[in-house]
This record gives sequence, structure tokens and C-alpha cells, in this order.
Amino acid sequence: MIILLKRNVERSKVDELLRRIHAMNVQTQEVHGVQESIIGLIGDTSAIDPEDFKSIDIVAKVKRIQEPYKKANRKFHPDDTIIDVCGRKIGGGHFQVIAGPCSVESREQMISVADSVKASGAGLMRGGAFKPRTSPYAFQGLREEGLQLLLEAKKHSGMPIVTEIMDKSHLPLFDDVDIIQVGARNMQNFELLKALGKVNKPILLKRGLSSTLDELIMSAEYIMAGGNENIIFCERGIRTFETATRNTLDLSAIPILKQRTHLPVIVDPSHAAGIRSLVEPLSMAAIAVGADGLIIEVHNDPAHALCDGAQSLTPDSFDETMQKVKKTVEFFGKTMD
Ligand code: PEP
Ligand code: MN
Repeated sequence: MIILLKRNVERSKVDELLRRIHAMNVQTQEVHGVQESIIGLIGDTSAIDPEDFKSIDIVAKVKRIQEPYKKANRKFHPDDTIIDVCGRKIGGGHFQVIAGPCSVESREQMISVADSVKASGAGLMRGGAFKPRTSPYAFQGLREEGLQLLLEAKKHSGMPIVTEIMDKSHLPLFDDVDIIQVGARNMQNFELLKALGKVNKPILLKRGLSSTLDELIMSAEYIMAGGNENIIFCERGIRTFETATRNTLDLSAIPILKQRTHLPVIVDPSHAAGIRSLVEPLSMAAIAVGADGLIIEVHNDPAHALCDGAQSLTPDSFDETMQKVKKTVEFFGKTMD
């Protein structure tokens, strides 16, 4: 971090600022130019907020040089993190497809979707039990009962399960869930993130609708700072001026997240597009830009789905998409085991 001082400031005020910085356990280096003077902060500045210095009257500008995230930063952890979920690996050349309905609706639905997506090559199953809905009058999910049906589908198919948590008080219900999803709307629910830092399970962290990549990485850092370093990022589209799709899939996010961090990144083409026919082409694009997996909504009867039917693939169309996914993954040198 660099602090640019205003011109002709009193020495006593500079010394006071230096004392304040040293109390934060970082070293300083002063550089006096002809016109300008700067103070360089040397050491771990991740816990220092540049805003704290901006209100000091002798300070003209503050610039962060080092990223504020340490645990997620690829600089300190050059190798890809590989997340192992019951033997299914994600990251470091391992690719996984997570498939299933938006919401858990019934036992028959879960068993039939589990059987079909497994036969098509999905490695893990998704299904929302606690649903974040824009309208309080929309279907809110089967909650505890939904979790039970998911666990039945897991037992039946042997596929690990992924489901969303909305409140940290629900954590005891998630003991047998394999990957806990933090949805877009909760990406900055910091109390939830802190609670997940104490959990010994992978977390699928979805990007907020209007969140920057730095904000997404800082949310991962919250979980990692608590001790849980098993994070999978999910790019699921962001809100833009475009209305032709539900969201706009930010393909640049995948290589950027992979350059800046060592964590795996998967893509959700279903929520990104909101349109069934776009799920396959966006899946291909995601693989081409380096995604480590996909999470795709599949419903046995999309026309009667209680949530997100328009973006859900039928088991047959998922099967066709999976044929192409497998070939594309192989073409880009990754394995789906
Ligand atoms: C979901 O995956 O079911 C979901 C609600 O997605 P998002 O949080 O990305 O909107
Ligand atoms: Mn959905």
C-alpha cells in the first residue's frame, strides 16, 4: 500500500502517521521526491483498510498494491486446489457436472431425475430445499422435507448432493449434505460466510447478481479466514442492461478468477441464460474458457416445474448436451472421473 502525502505537511504530523502505521505491525519506507512525498507500507497489509487513511488531513491519496485477499490468492498458493467430494474431484484438470432440478418437489421427481442425470454422466446432484424467491408468494421450497428427499436420492443413486443454505441457523440440518451452496443473494451475508468458515465441507459460492470479482473473492476469503478452505466459485451471470437473457454470463470471470486465485470455478448456464436452448452453447463456452465444472438444472417435467421450468433441460436434452460436454472437456485436456 502506498500513501501519497499532501505538499508541505508538518513533520510532526508525518511522524504521528508513521507511529499509527507501525502500530498496525507493518514497516514503512519514506520516499521524498522534488514535488511529492510518499510512504510505502511494507508487510502484510490485508487487514488494513485504505479508507482509514483517507480521512487524515495530510494524506492526498492511498493506493493498494497487494490484493486484500491472502488465503485465496494464487500468489501464495500457486497450485490449483482440487476439491474432493466423496471421490469426485473438481479443479486441477478434473471436471464435474452437477445436475438436478431447481427445487426438490417430490420423491418421484428426485428419484427419476437422479437416475437419468446419473446415466448421462453427471457426477453430483443438485436440488433446492430452501429457495430464495423474489416474491414471498412464490414456492419457497420443501425445506426440511426437501432435504430428506435429497438425502433419499443420494442414498438411491450414490451421487453426492449440493443444496443451498439460506440461514446459518439451518446448519445442523446440513450435516449429510456434501456441498453447501451459498446462493447469489447471500454472497455477502457475512455472518453466514463466517459460520461456513467453521464447517468442514466444500462450499459452492455463487457470484452475487451485481457483485464484482473482487467482492466474490473477498467472500471466499471470509470463509477461508474461518478455517474452511474448500471453496468452489460459481459464475451464474450478472445483471446488465441486456434483457434478452435472464442474466449476462460473464465468461471473463472464469479465467480472471483462475488467474487470481487457486480455487476451482464452475459455471451455471441455467441461471445465467434463463432459457433452455442457451444452456448447451453456454456450457461449451464455459469449458472453452477453463471452467472446472457445470451446474445445470434438469427437470423430469419442466412444463410443470414449481420453479425455473423455462431454463430446465429435460432428461433427454441433458443427455444430448452431456455427449457434447464430454467431448469438449476431453478436447480441452480435462478428465471427468
Ligand atoms: C439456485 O442455484 O437454485 C439459485 C437460486 O441460484 P442463484 O443463487 O445463482 O440465483
Ligand atoms: Mn433455479
